[in-house]
Amino acid sequence: MNFKIPKPSILIPIVLFSFFGIYFLFQNITPEGPRVALAANTETNYFEDFFRKEPETISLVEASSAVKVPIIIYHSIRPHIPGESALQERFDITPELFEQQLAYLRDNEYTPVSIDMLIAYTKTGTTTPVKKPVVLTFDDGWENQYTYAFPLLKKYQMMGVFYVYTNPVDKGVIHFLSWSQIKEMSAAGMVIGSHTLTHPYLKELSSAEARKEIFESKKNLENELGKPVLAFAQPFGGTSPEIEALAKEAGYVTARGTVEGVLHSRNDLFNLHGYFVSDNFNDFVNILNQ
Ligand SMILES: [Zn+2]
Repeated sequence: MNFKIPKPSILIPIVLFSFFGIYFLFQNITPEGPRVALAANTETNYFEDFFRKEPETISLVEASSAVKVPIIIYHSIRPHIPGESALQERFDITPELFEQQLAYLRDNEYTPVSIDMLIAYTKTGTTTPVKKPVVLTFDDGWENQYTYAFPLLKKYQMMGVFYVYTNPVDKGVIHFLSWSQIKEMSAAGMVIGSHTLTHPYLKELSSAEARKEIFESKKNLENELGKPVLAFAQPFGGTSPEIEALAKEAGYVTARGTVEGVLHSRNDLFNLHGYFVSDNFNDFVNILNQ
């Protein structure tokens, strides 16, 4: 092979062009799929949170009691659809890949646990007797989670946490879960959490609007399920001290954000870290083996 590295005068523009091309791609596409429109002026902040890469924010004092529990964030579990964008394809997990991931968890002695267990671990500072706990979370309330993920979770006897935003349920919204599907999953041992009423970027709302989203979605779920709903997840990971305080006041005991990390402490329960899963199996393995 007669391959020469291009001169810096050629190489540098190529590298810069590639970098900004990828940056602009990520600025303009959402992996969360079709849903409620965001006001145009919220998009910048929304993407900042959604793709935020922050180091673990656990102080040294807390580090002694922090527990390692990777939280995996799924959106759609479904076969790829012809014509979907590259980014959509990246965040849609096929049923085959999902089963491969569950088999990996089983074969490597990981135990999917509930949010309740995670809270208990942060209180005691240990996950004992569970060696390798992991939390599998599913956002938004897509029907494909019931169609494809739920049967596989049952097959592998594993549990998942489903964060549903409640306004579209039983309102004829295509591809969205129905109450009867949500109830069936809850009765089978899955945890149902709240993801607000309409999936807004909470930081952009007035205090009264945010309160309504956080409180009423909990009430809707509890009325339908007949049991307490204690887990909350902020849409797009958008949170603030005020939003965390509202979630606490509403009676939730945790809130999952989208800041990356696998360590959790008692002081982080209202901004739990997690990782978006991609359609690359090695990414999944790397998250678990951090
Ligand atoms: Zn969401």
